[in-house]
Amino acid sequence: TEAQLQQAQKMEAVGRLAGGVAHDFNNLLTVIRGYSELLLARLQPNDSMRKDMEEVKKAADRASGLTRQLLAFSRRQFIAPKLVDLNALVVNMDGMLRRLLGEDIIDLCAELAPNIGAIRADPGQMEQVIMNLAVNARDAMPKGGRLTIETRNVTVGKGPRKDAVGVEAGVYVQLTVRDTGHGMDAETRSHLFEPFFTTKEKGKGTGLGLSTVYGIVRQSNGTIVVESVPGQGTVFKIYFPLVSEDRPGASGPGETSDPAHG
Ligand code: ADP
Repeated sequence: TEAQLQQAQKMEAVGRLAGGVAHDFNNLLTVIRGYSELLLARLQPNDSMRKDMEEVKKAADRASGLTRQLLAFSRRQFIAPKLVDLNALVVNMDGMLRRLLGEDIIDLCAELAPNIGAIRADPGQMEQVIMNLAVNARDAMPKGGRLTIETRNVTVGKGPRKDAVGVEAGVYVQLTVRDTGHGMDAETRSHLFEPFFTTKEKGKGTGLGLSTVYGIVRQSNGTIVVESVPGQGTVFKIYFPLVSEDRPGASGPGETSDPAHG
């Protein structure tokens, strides 16, 4: 629709702008980090300036982390796409996710369909997508709840399909991250993928989590769709094109990396 097109163009423009700024900043930050390291190495262990210099370096490191997230959003980051089995990736993250969520109040539930095949993506970026969505889900459930991660194959036909608006016809691996949190209103939903948009209190949110997710999904030729009901919860559905019916690493000489992109 017209509105979707406008939104996509806006995101592209914001991405280009953010990417340009982040790229220049990152270069400058590299200089600040480099020299603060150098100075720290030259200071005596008991020098009174050490603490101040450490603060400078810490701040520069944090800033550099933020610009890296912005670069991911704007596709300027170096990535190494491979064939990825999302099921294996989710299973691998289990321990980390449980620690992140605080198991006592949030239930983690994985519903992984068998043999969903492979997508082409950067595995590190896929982990970042799941992490960022999980952090948001946790923040939306301060009193506890359930986080469900689902994978399955989905065929989107040419006809209208209510739950996959904006997704082209094709065969996909669908990754769903569902929470039973506070949900969001229409206003929040319409800005949610923009860099620096946050409803979290100062110091808690950067507003970069979902813009990073959006950038990564686009880079992987995927589409992300969100459904949310205030007071009931939120569902993020990501559609990645299916590129191989086989699981990478399964029997046979299946392709596991792509020299042209690696
Ligand atoms: P941040 O988490 O730093 O605020 P994000 O880009 O990750 O930045 O998220 C932007 C905003 O989208 C959040 O501040 C919140 O209002 C909303 N949001 C994201 N995920 C959820 C969710 N699972 N449930 C409710 N609101 C959400």
